[in-house]
This record gives sequence, structure tokens and C-alpha cells, in this order.
Amino acid sequence: MEKEAEVVIIGAGIAGLTTAYYLAQLGKKDVVVLEKREIGCMASGTNAALVSAVSPAYGTGPESDSMIKMGLFANDEYERFHNQWGYDLEFERCGSLVLTETEELFEKRKSYVDLRHKQGVTSIRLIHRDELFELEPNLAPDLYGAEFRPFAGHIMVMYFMCALGDKLRESGIRIYEYTPAIAIKTEGGRVKSVVTPQGEIKAKYVVNAAGIAAPSIGEMVGIKIPIDPNREQMLVTEEMPRIISHPLLSASYFTDLDRTGGVNETKAFACNPQKKGNILLVGVNDFVGEDRRISLRAFYAVPELASRYIPMLKTQNVHIIRGYANFYVHTPDSMPIMGKVDGLEGFIIVGGLCDIGMTLGAGVGKCIAELIYYGESSIPIQYFSLSRFN
Ligand SMILES: Cc1cc2nc3c(=O)[nH]c(=O)nc-3n(C[C@H](O)[C@H](O)[C@H](O)COP(=O)(O)OP(=O)(O)OC[C@H]3O[C@@H](n4cnc5c(N)ncnc54)[C@H](O)[C@@H]3O)c2cc1C
Repeated sequence: MEKEAEVVIIGAGIAGLTTAYYLAQLGKKDVVVLEKREIGCMASGTNAALVSAVSPAYGTGPESDSMIKMGLFANDEYERFHNQWGYDLEFERCGSLVLTETEELFEKRKSYVDLRHKQGVTSIRLIHRDELFELEPNLAPDLYGAEFRPFAGHIMVMYFMCALGDKLRESGIRIYEYTPAIAIKTEGGRVKSVVTPQGEIKAKYVVNAAGIAAPSIGEMVGIKIPIDPNREQMLVTEEMPRIISHPLLSASYFTDLDRTGGVNETKAFACNPQKKGNILLVGVNDFVGEDRRISLRAFYAVPELASRYIPMLKTQNVHIIRGYANFYVHTPDSMPIMGKVDGLEGFIIVGGLCDIGMTLGAGVGKCIAELIYYGESSIPIQYFSLSRFN
């Protein structure tokens, strides 16, 4: 392994690899990516694959303007990668639906939609029952309406992460798998090098893109990063002719999702139909440390909840063929942590992407690459600074 690189990125998830990608696009190729295991082995390769572009999880403050810009950029990029890279990444800009179960929830979403219109996202709109059932005839007949988000899409994340790795290697970026960062050396208030079992690499910039392990990377330089692993369990149905064609979320997903430590299997419904006919069912969400096991509870509770919205899952006896779990990179305010860190020159964090890391993904990487290359990013990211927690 080389002894020196201008930029060393720790972590080959979406945050680390897209940062490397946009650095290469800007002409900066003296970049090394270190990955403890394999590319995309954590949340980035095993999530629900929904790239919403404009997620309801962005909130309503000024920071949501920046998140909208990152998300819209990311979706355009995913479409471009799908069309230009020579791989079928199963990207589809199919639109998504936030289902409102009651008139009250429907009315509540009006102010949210108005705000997004003011922010320039004019295609998002509320639709009533008739239009909803034209788009999705197999939904439960008692649903009141929906918020339709025509710009949203999905992508096969396992293919995407592998393709991104290939593209980076082709462009000259060096990625070392099974090479964890085990220490970071500093000198005179700036980063000096990253230590791995295979040797030490001097670096001008060290990017902490280690997902749920970001706090342990922070500890190496005496910086506290408030990130907790929040386990999400997913179930996969068998392949079948499509009974739904849009990613779906319940409006109650956003009101009832307990981000503080609860368990959400009974209310927060979300699912994503895949190109090959499987449906990914988003499931039980809880704080259990770094336990990645699937619980039996998920196999009962998640299909039960999903059948409330898509009754055919039950009436057609659709089988669940697989389950998996991984971690949301949870922050106290559910917003990303991005940017330079006061008091330690050259140390950059990109993480805390919570449940919208694929949605923001390429936008996040572009911002961090610009921050390194130009000293600032074209999309304002000051809202996401670590210093907000002090
Ligand atoms: C089940 C589930 C469903 C989700 N669904 C969606 C969705 O539909 N849409 C959406 O937008 N988002 C979704 N998300 C969120 C999204 O997947 C994450 O926000 C995003 O993948 C986080 O990316 P990351 O690069 O920050 O972290 P990660 O993907 O976790 O990558 C961090 C990498 O760092 C490596 N690493 C750790 N320590 C070290 C070390 N010491 N040295 C070297 N490497 C190290 C890890 O091995 C890992 O590969 C979902 C998440 C989960 C868990």
C-alpha cells in the first residue's frame, strides 16, 4: 500500500464512495479509500433502495433547502449512472406515494406540500381517492388519499455500490477492502496519517465516512460524534407479477416513527416494489446496539401491517422469502453530520445520514468533494456541522 495520499477516506459506503467519485470528477485522484470489510457491506448495500429525492424526513427548516438540492441532484445522477455506466442498475423514476389513511392526515399534509411548492418542488401534489386507485388499484379501499411525489425513484443498491466501486477503480482511485483504519495520527492541530494493519498512510485530509463506526473514528482524534446505530429489519417477498408499482409510505410513518428508542412495527409502514417483482417490506425499527439479527417478531408484525395497506399480500398468500437487518446512522436531531471539524485541520466528517442516506447520497458526496477541492461546497452545508451539538 502507498505511504502517502492527499485524501484518505475511511468507509466504502455511499458517503465515502461518492465523495471519492466527485473528487475524481474534479480531477483529484490522489485518493485512497479504506474499508474494514467489503464495499457496501453495511447500510449502503442493504437498505430499502428508495431514492425519494425530496424526502418528507427533511423537515421544514432552512436546512431542508440544502437537502432538497442534494436529493434532486442525487436522483439525476443515479439516472445518469444507470443510463451511461453500462450496467442495469434497475433505476426507475417511478414516483412514490405517501398514503394518508384519514381525512385529518390528508389535511395535515397540505401545509407540508405548500412549503415544498414555495421551495420550488412544484410537482409534488396531494391526490384524492380516485386518482390514487387509478395509480394503485390494489391498495386497501378505505385509504383517503395520498401525496404523490413523481420525481422519486428506486435503484438496486447492491448493483449500484459494486458499479460505483468499479468506476472508481477505473478512474484511478485506490480502494482497499479488509483494511480498517485503526488509528489516526495528528500533529500541530492537523491530521498527519491513518494507520491500518497493512501500514500507515500520510494524508492531508482524512474523511470519516464510517457510518455507525464514525464515533470510534472520532475517538481516535479525541472528537465526540453523537451517532447511534438504529436497527431496521427488512423482509423480502417472493417474485410475483407486480401488484403495486410505486414505493409506498404511510403518512403515519412520519408522525408515528419513534426515533428515540421505541419499536415501530405496528404503525410505520413502508415498502418498495422491485423491478423483478419482489417487494421489500420495511419493518421493525429499534435500538439494540450493534445486534444485526432479525427477530421473529418482524416476520409476524411486518407482513400483518403491510396487508393492511396491500390486502392482496394476505389474500394471495404471498410468501416472505428472506429477511435482513442493518443500521440507520441515527443522530439526535435526525439530520446529517457533514463538514470540517473545528480545532482539527484536515479532518472531515460525512455521516449521520439516518434513513435518507441513499436519497441524499450523491449530493452528499458532491458537497464533501467540493469542500475539499474548493474549500466550500456549492450547496450550503453549515446546518450539518458537528459544532451544532456543542
Ligand atoms: C434497512 C435500511 C433501510 C434503509 N432504507 C433507505 C431508503 O430506502 N432510502 C434511503 O435514502 N436511505 C435508506 N437507508 C439509509 C441509508 O442506507 C444510509 O443512510 C446510508 O447507507 C449510510 O451510508 P454511509 O456511507 O454513511 O454508511 P455505511 O453504508 O454504513 O458505510 C460505512 C462504511 O464504513 C466502514 N467502516 C466502519 N469502520 C471502519 C474502519 N475503522 N475502517 C474502514 N472502514 C470502516 C463500514 O464497514 C461501512 O462499509 C436505510 C438504511 C437501512 C439500515
